[in-house]
Parts: sequence; structure tokens; C-alpha cells
Amino acid sequence: MSRHVLVTGANRGIGRSIAEGFVAAGYTVSSIHRSGELPEGVTGAIADITDTDAVNAAFDALEEQHGRVEILVANAGITRDGLLMRMTDEDFADVLETNLTGTFRCVRRASQSMIRQRFGRIVLVGSVVGLLGNPGQVNYSSSKAALMGMARSITRELGARGITANVIAPGFIATDMTAELGEDTVKQYEGSIPAKRFGAPEDVAAAALYLASDAAGYVSGAVIPVDGGLGMGH
Ligand code: NDP
Repeated sequence: MSRHVLVTGANRGIGRSIAEGFVAAGYTVSSIHRSGELPEGVTGAIADITDTDAVNAAFDALEEQHGRVEILVANAGITRDGLLMRMTDEDFADVLETNLTGTFRCVRRASQSMIRQRFGRIVLVGSVVGLLGNPGQVNYSSSKAALMGMARSITRELGARGITANVIAPGFIATDMTAELGEDTVKQYEGSIPAKRFGAPEDVAAAALYLASDAAGYVSGAVIPVDGGLGMGH
């Protein structure tokens, strides 16, 4: 399978693991990243997803090397946690600008290639907290909840053109993002997860590989939980 998959933020964490999974499965893998080193076998273009021109230029450069993007995994995201009454406009706006508008920028550019090919797989990395909510994450959970509306609107708009759009909703996954949590918080979270443990980036990568595959061609507008049962029923 040599399809071209672009993963945003493949330099670390979940994005890195997803990119490695696609490389191992024989895909042509590229990444838009703003820092760091990419895994072996992944072609990079430096861009910040908050910059429309940089995103478009990065897509152009990567498509010149590897042909049109057929699969987009929009993974890059940030947190700026804080309680609602103290959350600044900036902390709210920054998270929305990266997690939602940044994802939109990548999806819009990728869709141009996918429409021409009459084939595409769009995988958005959401979060269980987009469904469940989480104290201290009004900004983050709002941004992740919005990705579900995005995937479903894309499904209705482009579903007849061989394009699918789905959301993966990870629970707590051991990366730099969750490394910031204190020991007590981790214990408390683990207690509420039916699996009683955090997941690994590879757990999310497995879901991304499935959604990108031919086998998932009739799966669209779905929210796939990878959360050890944390968000069940939502
Ligand atoms: P990390 O903080 O480990 O990595 C985040 C990645 O996103 C980095 O590669 C980072 O780049 C990149 N990124 C952030 N902002 C931008 C930007 N403006 N432009 C380009 N790249 C950017 O996070 P995780 O790997 O844990 O998270 C990956 C995704 O999974 C995120 O969308 C996150 O919300 C989601 N998620 C994570 C969960 C978890 O428990 N870890 C749970 C649920 C969802 P750089 O290295 O330059 O900062």
C-alpha cells in the first residue's frame, strides 16, 4: 500500500506513533511539523498549522515529492488548561486556533486533492473530553467537540466522492501532554477508566490505520473511542 498519508505533528507523541505505524504498513508518509525530528521514513515540511499560507505551502511541497495527499491524519493539538472563571481570552482562542481552525486549514487543503482523486480518508484526532467534558478544559473540550461536527459535515458534503471523515476520540494516553499531570491526578483518572490504565500512542495509531484502510471505506462520520472504556455510552 503506497498511498500518501500526511500526519500533522509527527515529531512526537501520538502523531509520531501514527506516522511510524503507517511507515511500517508500507504507506508513503509525510508530516507538517513545526519543530523536532521526524521518525525514519517520514518526509517533513515545517509549518505551524495556525498559519494558512504555511500550511498550503507545506502541502504543495509534500505533494510535489509524493503526489496528492490521499489520507490526512489531523493530529496536532495543544492544551492550555485552567478553570473557566480564570481562563483568559488568549488561552481560549489559542486552543481553538490550533485544535479547530488549524485542523480546518489542513482539511480544506487536503480536500482539494481528495476531490480531484475521488478518494480520501480524513482522520481527525479528537478526545474523549469532547464528549464527556473535563474540569479545567473548557477551551480544549470545546475544540475537540467541534471536530465531530466537522467530520460529519465533511461526510455529508463529500461522502459521494469517495471521501470519508471520522474522529478518533482517545482517552488518556501516555505522552508529553499527560506527563504534566500530577501523580495523584493520574491515580484518580486511572481509577475512573474501566481498563484501569492509560493507553499507549500505538493504541491510537491502530485506529488511524484502520480508518485509513480500504476496509473502512463505508465508515464515515463516526467517532471511534480509544479510551479503555472511559467514555462508554457517549
Ligand atoms: P503532544 O503534546 O505530545 O504533541 C502534540 C503535537 O502537536 C506535537 O507534535 C506538536 O508540535 C504539535 N503541534 C501543536 N501545535 C502545533 C501547531 N500550531 N502547528 C504544528 N504542530 C503543532 O500531544 P499528544 O501526542 O498527546 O496529542 C496528539 C493529539 O492527540 C492532540 O490533538 C491531542 O489533543 C490528542 N489527544 C491526546 C490525548 C492524550 O491523553 N495524550 C488524549 C486525547 C486526545 P511541537 O512538538 O512543535 O510542539
